[in-house]
Amino acid sequence: MAPVSFVPLPKGEGQDLLKQILGLQGDATPIDFPDAIFASIDIESASWVPKHHASFGDVTEVGIATLDTRTIRNGAPNLCQWMQKVEATHFRLNDTAGLRTKCRDYHGTPLFAADKFEFGCSTWAHRNELKNQIIDLLRVEDEAKLSSGSESKPEKKYRDVVLVTHAWENEDKYLKQINLSYEEVGTIVSVLDTQVLESSPFWRQPGLLRLMGGLSIQPLHRHNGANDAVYTLAVLLGGAVNRYRSENPDVCKELNCNIEEGLTLLKETIAAEVGGRCQHCDLFGHEKRFCKKWLSTNMRGQAVDGKVVTVGPRPVKNLTTKAAPFKADVKDESEFPGLGPAKHSRSDSDPPGKVSVDLCKAPGGPRAKKGKKFQKLDWIA
Ligand SMILES: [Zn+2]
Repeated sequence: MAPVSFVPLPKGEGQDLLKQILGLQGDATPIDFPDAIFASIDIESASWVPKHHASFGDVTEVGIATLDTRTIRNGAPNLCQWMQKVEATHFRLNDTAGLRTKCRDYHGTPLFAADKFEFGCSTWAHRNELKNQIIDLLRVEDEAKLSSGSESKPEKKYRDVVLVTHAWENEDKYLKQINLSYEEVGTIVSVLDTQVLESSPFWRQPGLLRLMGGLSIQPLHRHNGANDAVYTLAVLLGGAVNRYRSENPDVCKELNCNIEEGLTLLKETIAAEVGGRCQHCDLFGHEKRFCKKWLSTNMRGQAVDGKVVTVGPRPVKNLTTKAAPFKADVKDESEFPGLGPAKHSRSDSDPPGKVSVDLCKAPGGPRAKKGKKFQKLDWIA
């Protein structure tokens, strides 16, 4: 593999590569698809805790959404079908599990959505193991290629990966925090940044929300790392097909460009694969009729006050399960009377109904600096 520069390709070069990989070169160019897997990555951090807090800026979630372009080779471009081939993985860092906020971004979108993964079940991860888990996802064995090496010790062949991101500089900073450098992955052949690809004289650095609006995508639960990774991939594909349509107006009047429908169908497919999606708590992996059992077996150190739930770090033995913590809902206990009041991690000295916790006292909570007294603001640990 030629040396790779781990910075996003410039706009023109990136758009050309994208066009080639997706086979959107029009009739004039011989069809020669570079064979690759797109892997979109999005990292969330605790940027909303006070700056003096030990966990300020810590990575809290990593989302990776992949699309194997071998699965979309047949037929005309079809964004609805392409989106249904996307696979998403959502890691939550167990040592920041107790952190959450009610703050919103300047669009009014809640900054905390770690418990609202829309495309499957979240996975709890240890900080020191996350690097290898990400590398595993970015190293995909190529089953179509024969292995070389000796018969007793065949050498594995891996698929080429084109990394996709939105606003590269931010991700790079956080990757250093989890000791991951893309050089050591060994499969990444190029980097595409949707902010670069979709930039224009009017919007030099367009935000993800703006780009999604241009493609009629109605995002649910932004700022969840894996949701945003899926949306970034949608923007990448949608932008490429839009350019293809404008360059080839005669051949693509009938193209299906409905990304939103594709995402809805993707969620239905995932729900069927993982045991359903609960209409009560919205989580994947169980149906509503099993929600009582689900809540009672998956609630650990969580408190319900009708608005906010604090989620304490889980015991290590449970961290490898793919079950996500349930979402807060005031109706839980009334709908399931047998459930009873949930145990929770708030301090006994806190008044009823108040769930904020003195960080220094939180058992097993985020690393607090000795001697620091933290204010109870609108973030919670
Ligand atoms: Zn449920």
